[in-house]
Amino acid sequence: MRRPVIAGNWKMHKEFSEVVSYATRFAKAISDVRDSDIIICPPFIYLRTLVEAFKDTPVSVGAQMMYWEDKGAYTGEISGPMLKSTGVEYVIIGHSERRQYFGETDDTVNLRIKAALRNHIIPILCVGETLEQRENSETFDVIDRQLLQGLDSLEAASAESIIVAYEPVWAIGTGKTATPEIAQEVHERIRHVLSSMFGSHTAEEIRILYGGSVKPDNVDELMRQKDIDGALVGGASLDPESFERIVRYKE
Ligand code: PEP
Repeated sequence: MRRPVIAGNWKMHKEFSEVVSYATRFAKAISDVRDSDIIICPPFIYLRTLVEAFKDTPVSVGAQMMYWEDKGAYTGEISGPMLKSTGVEYVIIGHSERRQYFGETDDTVNLRIKAALRNHIIPILCVGETLEQRENSETFDVIDRQLLQGLDSLEAASAESIIVAYEPVWAIGTGKTATPEIAQEVHERIRHVLSSMFGSHTAEEIRILYGGSVKPDNVDELMRQKDIDGALVGGASLDPESFERIVRYKE
């Protein structure tokens, strides 16, 4: 039985004064939730504040990115050891906005995944097709390539801890959610590819999240799908009440 994961990606939102009041309200609201892993991924500069604010609560903190070298002359970058020493437990890797606007490739995704695992940080690998790729019936080709290259040369033992997020690019921030059937079909494909790479036992352990306009009113049906083990939530994680409702999805 895979433990569900509900992760919020704040992207480049919120100013410092909002961060602490969010954390106080949200931590109180979900203090009784025990059956899911709850993660919030704020911008880098709020990581330490949230690690402290969520100490002794069910909420863990994740970064939205990391560099693959551990240290050195890389102005502006943040490394795995830095994140780990701050109390960060997860990191999003290969988000489509990084791929679209900042030149992220499957090769750099692979370097970052390995660096995260080396530093005992759980990577959340994002994969997903654009609208054009879906319309050209390339969805499975794109997903297969992103998994095969992004997770290239990983040992099954370390692959077991990773989280994969299926995020169709056409559904991110657009209000268009993949139907539960579309999402389930791609999640099943992802598990199949993971099984061919790492064996069926490992593939059964890996949590696969759906992301793309997840909201309080569509999370329940998505979470009922066999291969959907959680959600990666952008916009709806910015408001503590709507994120609480998502965390308290009903199966
Ligand atoms: C995301 O940023 O990963 C995401 C899925 O965003 P949204 O929920 O706003 O579509």
